[in-house]
Amino acid sequence: MAAIKAQRKKDQKIDAQLEHQRLESLVNSMADGVIAIDKKGNIELYNGAALNILDINAIKKGDPVEKILKLTNNKKEPLDTKSIVLSPKTQTISRDYKIIYSDTSMASIYLSISPVHLGYGKKGDSGYVLIIRDITREKSLEEERDEFISVISHELRTPIAITEGSIGNALYLAEKNGDIDTIIPALKNAHDQAIFLEDLINDLSTLSRAERGIFERNIENVNVHKFMESLQEIYEKDAKEKSLQLHIDIDPSLELIKTVKLYMKEIMQNLITNAIKYTEKGSVAISAQKLRDGVKFSVSDTGIGISKGDQSRVFDKFFRSEDYHTRQQNGTGLGLYVTRKLAELANAEITVESELNKGSTFTIYFPNLDK
Ligand code: ADP
Repeated sequence: MAAIKAQRKKDQKIDAQLEHQRLESLVNSMADGVIAIDKKGNIELYNGAALNILDINAIKKGDPVEKILKLTNNKKEPLDTKSIVLSPKTQTISRDYKIIYSDTSMASIYLSISPVHLGYGKKGDSGYVLIIRDITREKSLEEERDEFISVISHELRTPIAITEGSIGNALYLAEKNGDIDTIIPALKNAHDQAIFLEDLINDLSTLSRAERGIFERNIENVNVHKFMESLQEIYEKDAKEKSLQLHIDIDPSLELIKTVKLYMKEIMQNLITNAIKYTEKGSVAISAQKLRDGVKFSVSDTGIGISKGDQSRVFDKFFRSEDYHTRQQNGTGLGLYVTRKLAELANAEITVESELNKGSTFTIYFPNLDK
């Protein structure tokens, strides 16, 4: 009888051990970091993902939680981790905490804190289970989206206010049988702003297509001579209106290039529009040269130039130089960002050289693409 009892006890112990191992491997296989602490905030259990997320090699059982989990706020100010994790009476979830790594980089984390009866150690011990997830990428996408909405609404507000004001003014003058010569400038102003809005919306839709990569890479043979002629036709008038000379130079040996014509056109149009926009006097020169098995285009201007510091940022989304001359021109800061995206899609390489108050040269190399 005693032998059977002893055997049963032994079996129960093995069952409990198996159950424990099963739970342990379940917790260890989780992608989220799991840390269980007792009611004083000392660590009882953790999994491998917790080590990864916190970027530490080991956690000692019994260590205080604040030794390994150093929560900070958005401004990198340290928070009182211990009181944060020991205070909830029910499960609480936050997506606002950050942690700082030893190399000073910062990660955004999801932190769930659940008060529990731990059920190990002394029976009925209570404590907390923390679940930690790295949400840096999600957060930065959210932040980018918020910034995007705020910039777009800001960009839209000014032209819409001007359009509304100008049309209101024209209406008032028309009702008062005002002179047509005073009505026309108000309408022209409204028209200009409507064009700006159209440009902005075009930039945004090109951007969204480029970002989702849904542009069809329609590779075709492009006659470089004809392509340059078409650019000259489009921009001659704009250059003339600002009394700028437009020089076109093409390597006679150039013939056909196999590329995505749509991207090449969009890219060159963005570069030439900028060259004319940011140049008050002098010239804009567009050249096409044969290079390796492709074409190297360059767009040079004698305009306001770009400072060394800004040159590395001109292809960033929404970047516009703080420079006073830049701010005199309308712009969304999206043109060169879209340009770079399209260049990547066409395997093209783009570079910029510039000197403040002297001018800028954007160079782009399009390789021949196989169909
Ligand atoms: P924007 O709509 O402001 O022109 P872009 O993305 O086309 O946006 O250009 C980003 C910024 O790069 C501009 O705001 C300007 O500061 C700078 N930039 C671009 N092209 C030129 C140029 N040819 N000359 C001087 N600055 C330029």
